[in-house]
Amino acid sequence: MRIDPHHIPEPVLELCRILSARGFRSWIVGGCIRDLLMGRAVSDWDLATSALPHEVQRVFPRTFPTGIEHGTITVLHRGERYEVTTLRGDGTYSDGRRPDRVELGVSIEEDLARRDFTVNAIAFDPITEEAVDPWGGILDLGARRIRAVRDPRERFAEDGLRVLRAARFAATLEFELDEATRAAIRGSLETFRKVAPERVHEEWRKAFEKSAEPSRAFRIMRETGILDVTLPALGALDAARFEATMARIDRTPRTHALRLAALLLDVVSVSGWDLALMRAEAHLRPLDLWLRDDMRTANQERRRILHLVEHTRVPIEALARDPALRRWLARVGAADVHDVLTLMRADERDVGALAARVELELARGTPLTVGELPVDGGDVMRALGLPPGRAVGLVLERLLARVHEDPSVAARDALLAAMDAAYREVMGAPA
Ligand code: ATP
Ligand code: MG
Repeated sequence: MRIDPHHIPEPVLELCRILSARGFRSWIVGGCIRDLLMGRAVSDWDLATSALPHEVQRVFPRTFPTGIEHGTITVLHRGERYEVTTLRGDGTYSDGRRPDRVELGVSIEEDLARRDFTVNAIAFDPITEEAVDPWGGILDLGARRIRAVRDPRERFAEDGLRVLRAARFAATLEFELDEATRAAIRGSLETFRKVAPERVHEEWRKAFEKSAEPSRAFRIMRETGILDVTLPALGALDAARFEATMARIDRTPRTHALRLAALLLDVVSVSGWDLALMRAEAHLRPLDLWLRDDMRTANQERRRILHLVEHTRVPIEALARDPALRRWLARVGAADVHDVLTLMRADERDVGALAARVELELARGTPLTVGELPVDGGDVMRALGLPPGRAVGLVLERLLARVHEDPSVAARDALLAAMDAAYREVMGAPA
């Protein structure tokens, strides 16, 4: 495998030339060289340089000190951001998470020695056109193998996240784990346990977004015990249900929210599922806490994932009657119903007829929320002589329920005519 500088974008070469003109060396390094050698699309170009952070700041007019304490400066160049990191060694790690102190100004070989896997520890100097590959990364790329740089037990003891990264790269690159690297994972789980949830979540996100088959990562996580640390309820599923979950996540489109929802469908307890309790908050509570506390999922994304899980789990038979379908559709929402159907399909459920009925309801414009009714609170207050208050909203909800029962009453006159009856129902009086 050879690196052809013509495959490196001109602005990246330019950064290296600018550094070189100021007497500094620079290398393209890490994931981008790996992806370039594999012929994959490169998303971020990272540079390692002999220049110290303050020197990088002086060389380029537009910079941000993003990770200056680790030697990283973000350079804005021709509208793109590049991470330019001073060559660094990591010294000792005593907490299993980050180095006690970083040492700047080491050799490129030492910089590569601190990296996690051999395929991520290749550097290329586009000025001299020299590749630096002290750990056999190019050989491992050819063999499609994830192998730790040096002793895997030491690398995993330094930074517990690396065990998860090994599983994640096996999926995103479609590589196998080297035996010694795989064997070292189990003994490193106590270090993995100390890793910040945000970092764990970031690797899950990449597994979901960047893999054709995220199951490759999750099978490794289950076999090595990583899953017992992060999501024991998934690790504990019996083989058949675990495999069904794996097939489901692979069939789900490559987005984080959808694939995470697909992963979690079987993790929710099925006991006590009851249509009368379709807002199954009690079942979803443990999942909610896991997303919030163990994965630090942003609130909006957490709510969306729970919403998708909740509504994908509905038994399709329960939607056989049109009013039930409309009530369900109103709870799911027009914005999410296609994702819910997608998840049901990924779960190999027969949704053809359901999807067609959903399209029909959406096309005929059945009001799904109170706000979509052709009457509003003002109409309710005028028709019933009510002051503003809770009763007004309750009447509107009653009217919406009537529309879901029978959409032919959705016209404004019909709803105005139904106000009295709706009010009596709300007040619990006999009609
Ligand atoms: P991807 O493109 O999938 O993000 P990547 O290799 O670019 O893969 P990053 O997490 O962006 O992954 O890291 C960039 C580089 O930094 C890696 O290629 C590796 O050399 C180094 N690196 C990142 N995280 C670690 C870590 N926890 N331990 C050691 N080296 C690491
Ligand atoms: Mg990257």
